[in-house]
Order: sequence, then C-alpha cells, then structure tokens
Amino acid sequence: MKLYNTLTRKIELFTPAHDRKITLYSCGPTVYDYTHIGHARTYTNTDVLKRTLVSFGYKVKHVMNITDVGHLTGDDDTGEDKLEEGAKRIGKSVWDVAKAYTDFFLKTLIELNIIIPDQLVKATNHVKEMTQLIKQLSQEGFAYETGEAVYFDVTRFKNYGKLSRQPLEEKIQKARKEVYVDPQKRNPADFALWFKRVGRFSSHTMHWDSPWGDGFPGWHIECSVMSMKYLGETIDIHTGGVDHLSVHHENEIAQSESATGKPFVRFWFHNEFLLVEGQKMSKSLGNIYTVDDVVKKGIEPAALRLLYLQTHYRKQLNFTWEAARAAQEAYNRLKEYVIALCKETQRTTLSAEKLKQIDSYRQKFADAIANDLQMPQALAVMWDALKSNIPATDKLDLVVNFDQVLGLKLKDIKEEKIPKEILDLAKKRVQARKQNDFETADLLRKEIQRKGYRIEDTEDSFVLKPKPKIPLQK
Ligand code: AMP
Ligand code: ZN
Repeated sequence: MKLYNTLTRKIELFTPAHDRKITLYSCGPTVYDYTHIGHARTYTNTDVLKRTLVSFGYKVKHVMNITDVGHLTGDDDTGEDKLEEGAKRIGKSVWDVAKAYTDFFLKTLIELNIIIPDQLVKATNHVKEMTQLIKQLSQEGFAYETGEAVYFDVTRFKNYGKLSRQPLEEKIQKARKEVYVDPQKRNPADFALWFKRVGRFSSHTMHWDSPWGDGFPGWHIECSVMSMKYLGETIDIHTGGVDHLSVHHENEIAQSESATGKPFVRFWFHNEFLLVEGQKMSKSLGNIYTVDDVVKKGIEPAALRLLYLQTHYRKQLNFTWEAARAAQEAYNRLKEYVIALCKETQRTTLSAEKLKQIDSYRQKFADAIANDLQMPQALAVMWDALKSNIPATDKLDLVVNFDQVLGLKLKDIKEEKIPKEILDLAKKRVQARKQNDFETADLLRKEIQRKGYRIEDTEDSFVLKPKPKIPLQK
C-alpha cells in the first residue's frame, strides 16, 4: 500500500522491514484530563491504518504509551507537570488522576470501536529503563547535567530537525521573558531528559532515585524507551498528531538515533487536527467535547466515527453540530440498509456478471484504502455497493467485509423490536382511519411519536420505525 511519510513528505510504497510483520507505535494520551473528540479523531485514524494493514494480510504489533508523568504544560520544558496540575484541579492524588483518565480513555476507545493496542504501557512503569538510556546518552556525550536537570544537547545530533525540517537556528527560539529558563542550559532548544526535584519542582509528587538524584523523567524519553523496548530499535510506523511533529517526535528521533546509530522510524504517520470554529480542540482553549457530550446530543459513537472517516486524515476537520447531525442521519440510513439486507436470507447462485460486479467493488475499496487511506473514497464505494443490484446476502457480506476496515459495527446493527404497547396504538389507529375518524387517528399518531416511534401509513396497514434520534440543537 501507499502511505504518506512525514519524514520524506512523500507518498511512498509501504512495506514492512520484516516479512509481513509490522511494528507500530502510537503516542498515547497524557492522562490528566478527559479524552476529547479531537484526541479520538487521531486514535480513530490510527485504528483505520491498523485495520487497513491487517486487511492486506499483515500482522501488526501495536504498542501505545500512557503518559502519566513528565509531560509539562509547555512543550519547551516550561510550566508544571500536567499530572500535578490535574491532581490540584480535582483534589486527588496524581495516581488517582492517572487511573481515572486512563479508564476514560479506554472507554472512549471501546465506544469508538477502536481496537485496543496489543500493549498499553505506562511511563511510570519504565523509569528504570529511562534512567538507563539517559545514562548512556550522558556517557556518550549527548547529554549534560545542570543543577536542575539533565538535558539532551541538540547540537550533538547532526540530524536534529530532520523530521520538522526546521533549521536548528530557527529552533533555537528566544525564550519568552516571562518563562523561567535554567541558566545553565546550553542551547534553548536542548530538552530535558530528567528533572531534578529542586527549585520549581521541589515538591513534585512523583519522584524516583537516579544517578542525578531524586527527580522524574522528561516527557520525550518515555517514547524512545518504550518503542525500542517492545518493538526494537527501528520500527515500521510511528503515529501521532501533527502537534507532536516538531518537538516531541524530533526529540524522540534525537534520543533514539543517538543511542543506537540506527534509524528510529521508517514511516512517520501524522494526523491533522480536529477543530472547533477554526481552532484546535484543546483543553487550554476550553472548547472540548467528549464522546459522552456527543452521545448526550443524540449522536451515536459509530456516527462520530463515520464523521471522522468522511475527511482524509491529513486534512483538518472542523467539528460542527450540524455536521455531526448529518453524520447521524447518514448512519441511520446505513442502519436501514443493513436491516433490510438482514431480512433477506435466500442465497442465490451468482452469475459471472454479478461475481465480476462484486469483485469490482472489492477492488475499488481496496484501491481507495491502499492509496494513503482515502477513506472518503472508500465510503463512497460502500454507498455505491449498497445502492447496487447485487443480491442481498452477497451485498451484506461485501459491506460487512468493508466494515472490518471502517469499524462502523455493521454486524451489530439490529432492528429494534417495537414494543406491544406501540403496536396496539398503531392498530387502533388503523381502525380509526378505516372509520374515517381522522381526529382520533391524528391523536394516536402524536402519542406514538411522543413514545419515540414514527408511523407511516400504507394502504391498509402501517410501518413503524423508531424515530431517528434527532440531535438537540447545540
Ligand atoms: P496528548 O494527550 O495531548 O498528548 O494528545 C494525545 C494525542 O491526541 C496526540 O497524538 C495529539 O497529537 C492528539 N491530539 C490532541 N489534540 C487534538 C486535536 N484537536 N485533533 C486531533 N488530534 C489531537
Ligand atoms: Zn510519544
């Protein structure tokens, strides 16, 4: 398949380094607050990537980290640890905060039908390995110690900036005046590998013993350590959001490649942002919605997933309630198709022409996903197939097969059983209509609607459907 590689800024032919086995690492969440639907977009697109690779017969080993220490509020080593901030905000221990938001993250993944990574690994369980790597980098002259921290010296890694393509001089931004900077830091772009429990961090809750005294690891080192520990020194694909590109991922490369002398990652896969009114959805802007918020407005998680798939992963997606409602309506239509197909159980012998037609849909779908995950195109193939004259049972097989990549839970779609109470009201209404008592018929229709169902008249009977969940206005 073809995949865009941020490292080369090109769509390249992707093949794994070893046979049909793919090593995939994803930067996971910092568990200090709720996972929002912006994060979820990134994780859904990673899931689609993984499902696509599996559909082409690859075996994927997927590792994701959980950041529960060391990620400061400023990516430039400024501010405080996000976990400590979360603990202050909700008045609990950092460990409780990490547990609660990790659980919420997992719940979000499950709701969105995202396959849980094979290994979900916590930073706090890998501090020993982190100190070992920092020790190695220090011994080999890539890192230095100050009174406050151990830093990676970016001038010692000749390829620094190869991912972001920012020249080092540009990266050496002037530190903002109001921000505290360690006076012993050699270059402003140097980043912390280890923070000592002194000065601004003297009361930091999470701390470990190390060759540099009591302290805690910086954020970037965890991903180098966990990726190399579980997947090897060079991995096939590393994923994350575009905000990680210029600092976090650049720093991961510097640490890992300095330590091993080998390429760290073959393909870098970056997801574009989910925006709200043109701005990145983020906690600091106060414009976040969780999957729960979306569900409260009558939009199913599968409809949210459909909304994500309608935009290519390298394009920004502007979230609006109108777009979410339209996605729910599209998902309702999809459900109606699937329910209708499920009712047809008679399998017919397929003509050569029909077999060719099915194959052509299969091919078009495979071509779309193999072309750097053109999911909007893949969805169009699915809708075309649904509208086609392929016999029902084969059509169902085909779209269920597509769904192994789309993850829209088509197999779980079932017709909702209409309760007897509603059926009785509908029958009464038929009688009223037969007697030309349209007033009663109208009252009964309203009652049926109030109870959440829609009634459509046929010549001498009726069709009842659960009322589509009409999402409330924002
Ligand atoms: P964090 O917990 O901030 O490290 O973020 C977890 C993942 O979500 C990272 O890969 C981020 O790049 C990604 N992310 C954060 N905000 C958004 C957003 N608004 N849209 C898409 N991805 C995001
Ligand atoms: Zn990372």
